[in-house]
Parts: sequence; structure tokens; C-alpha cells
Amino acid sequence: MIAVETVFQKLLAAHGEQFWWPAESDFEMLIGAILVQNTNWSNVEKALAGLEAELNPEAIREMPTEELALKIRPSGYYNQKALKIKAFVAWQGEWEDDIHAIRQQPLAKLRAELLNIKGIGPETADCMLAYAFRKPVMVIDAYSRRLFARIGYEVPKKYEAFQQMLETGLPDDLLILQEFHALIVEHCKQYCQKTPKCLACPLKRECKQYI
Ligand code: SF4
Repeated sequence: MIAVETVFQKLLAAHGEQFWWPAESDFEMLIGAILVQNTNWSNVEKALAGLEAELNPEAIREMPTEELALKIRPSGYYNQKALKIKAFVAWQGEWEDDIHAIRQQPLAKLRAELLNIKGIGPETADCMLAYAFRKPVMVIDAYSRRLFARIGYEVPKKYEAFQQMLETGLPDDLLILQEFHALIVEHCKQYCQKTPKCLACPLKRECKQYI
């Protein structure tokens, strides 16, 4: 079976560096991680554009939840997401919005705090950890599950078990973990779609489900 690190090398060779996360600030990244739940990135961009000058923690804390929901409407599930964003900015306020101070926290403690915020699940927490708080974690999502199942891995159902499986096969290096997550998304969008385009896939020689 193809090793996890070989999958990374092949995807990197095929797609090049992705330089994620697409955001102009850490705060935009953090809010984007909530907005992207159950939607695509173009809807996130529209929702972020709706916030415009108010895309900062103070403005969002002061904004009524209903107003926030209307501004982020293009992202879908906007009432729920407004509550999640409110909960997140309240938590960040406890840190006086000091991203650098938050980054100093140990990974396990910070992850537990994020998971304690209403509406922040493992995937969202790990996106925040990897891209804004710069902690070396592998983000697990539906794309990584699909890809590794197809190339022949027994993918554990439990999020953390699959995460550990991938992390064990990779160097403990933030940039590699960020890139691998981004490369898997790119690969699944280009080739390993629901109906896969196997003929041109750079993993076809090693893939158990090559069709
Ligand atoms: S060969 Fe097909 S099923 Fe396998 S990884 Fe590539 S696109 Fe996916």
C-alpha cells in the first residue's frame, strides 16, 4: 500500500504548493473556518464580503446576532453560524483578541478550549489550529476520508483515530500538514470527485479503486 508520505509527495508534485488558508488576516481565516461549514468557498467569500469593514472581533461582538446572520446569509445556515461566530469572538475576547498569546498555549489545551465553544467541532478547530494558531495538526475532512478509502486504507470512523493515522505517517511539520490538507482538497476537486476521473489521476498506479 502506498505510504502516507508518498501520497503527500505525489500530490505535491502533481498540484504544487497551495499556500493555504486563503485569507488576508488571521481573524478572517478564523471566521472563514466557521463560515465554510457545509458550504463551498465561493459562498464564504460572499459572506465575508458582507462583513466588509466589520470583519474584526470588536465590531462582531457589538453587532446584534440577527444583523450578523443577515450579513453572512450567503454562507447558508446563517442563523446557526451567527451564533457560532458570536461564541467564538466571545472566547477570543477572553484572550483580549491577542492571537500571539493564544498561540503560546499548548496544542492539547488550546484544542480542548476550541472544542468547548458551541458549534466548533474537530474539523473547524483543527483548521483554526493549523492555519491561524500555527499548531502542527492534520485537518480531517470528507475529502481525506474519500481519498484514503479509495486508495485502499481502512479509514477509522473516529476523527481523532484517522487524524493520528495520517499524522503518524508524516513529519511533525506545520507546513507539510497544512499543505497536505490543501493538496487533498485540490486533488479531490480535480480528480477524486464523487465520480472519479481516474484516467489522468497521479495516484492511479497505487490506487485500489482506479477505474
Ligand atoms: S485513481 Fe481514481 S479513485 Fe483513485 S485516487 Fe485517483 S481519482 Fe481517486
